[in-house]
Amino acid sequence: MQALRKASFRSDKLQPVLVQLTDGRSYASAATHFSGGSDPRHFKHQDLELHSSKKLQKKPDFGKLIFGRHFSDHMLDVAWSESHGWGVPRIGPIRNIELHPAAKVLHYALELFEGMKAYYGDDGKVRLFRPDQNMERMQTSAKRTSLPDFDGKRAHALHRSAHRRGPQLGPAESRQQPYEALLYVITGPVGPYFPTGLKPVSLLADPQHVRSWPGGAGAYKMGSNYAPTIHVQKEAEKQGCQQVLWLHGDDHQVTEVGTMNVMVFWINENGEKELVTAPLDGLILPGVTRNSLLALSREWGEFKVSERNFTMGDIEKAVEQKRLIEFFGCGTACVVCPVHNILYAGRNIKIPVPNEKASLSGRFLRTLNDITYGRVRGHPWAVDIDELIATVPVSERIAVKSR
Ligand SMILES: *Cc1c(COP(=O)(O)O)cnc(C)c1O
Repeated sequence: MQALRKASFRSDKLQPVLVQLTDGRSYASAATHFSGGSDPRHFKHQDLELHSSKKLQKKPDFGKLIFGRHFSDHMLDVAWSESHGWGVPRIGPIRNIELHPAAKVLHYALELFEGMKAYYGDDGKVRLFRPDQNMERMQTSAKRTSLPDFDGKRAHALHRSAHRRGPQLGPAESRQQPYEALLYVITGPVGPYFPTGLKPVSLLADPQHVRSWPGGAGAYKMGSNYAPTIHVQKEAEKQGCQQVLWLHGDDHQVTEVGTMNVMVFWINENGEKELVTAPLDGLILPGVTRNSLLALSREWGEFKVSERNFTMGDIEKAVEQKRLIEFFGCGTACVVCPVHNILYAGRNIKIPVPNEKASLSGRFLRTLNDITYGRVRGHPWAVDIDELIATVPVSERIAVKSR
């Protein structure tokens, strides 16, 4: 998060993220005898406990930031238990989490995550990019993983079904539904993903590796989807590629690249200029970036925009007939990531990479940067965190307990 360059060490800037998470709209739990806070069914900003870290870390060299290497001094956590529902939200020094060795997350990967960036704008304001979309996706992941849902429905169902089935339960360790859960938010600074301009990557497309399948959980951001891909990523690197192109089905449909959605810009077989990406049919992760690039394209109205299946055969043919214009991944981390080569069935398919200034991916990147860094005034996708906090009733805003 570039925002953290300025904001991470100011405790007042730690609050807005919590406000976003706890706007009081939909974070009910099933608790009937909640002991902390003022409302038994919600965790709220007004219940926030703030414990500032006594000893702050040395600031990292901002020229050499690596994603996932540095973290800010504080974290937010909210505990949930079946009997008490959501507990008191707390911002305190970042710390290790202590777990019983039988914790479900360690055995059954009962876990979900979200990733969001905050941008430190040219005007000094800090903006989140479409945070509502990440929160919605987190709720769908919570349902799929049986972790407590923020709107309480799932937590409620879990609570009730546990009671109904109570007598049939074995020892705690053999039950698969969680008794306890922890929601936490950690933040860290990241530099630009491509500091020296877009760097095209090469992909391994090997149909023997499958990331997701119909009826599976590929559309949810849960840890269990990612562990099995690390081995395949290593295989790609062994074969001189940088990322994996995930295929599906006997016809080798193109679904995702690494942990990004995939987009192809080409002249289709009917001679039309078209941006195409795999459909949201349960196989792919519904990316916020994907959604945003599709929305921009439809707004521009300059070429056809399609969410439909396409195959490696279609790609090979388009390259052969010189109809393929560009091929790129998209996601929060890099925004866009052009592809220059695909290793498929032992052959290298050379993908054209237009000049960044002239390319569609470059245009997407510039357009999103203008929004996220606040160069476009008042764009609805860029949520100013100071304005966000202003939407919280004053009675809730001033009640932060600082110890
Ligand atoms: C997170 C993710 C994406 C991209 O989603 P964004 O919301 O755009 O960051 C795409 N595919 C997978 C598998 C992902 O985990």
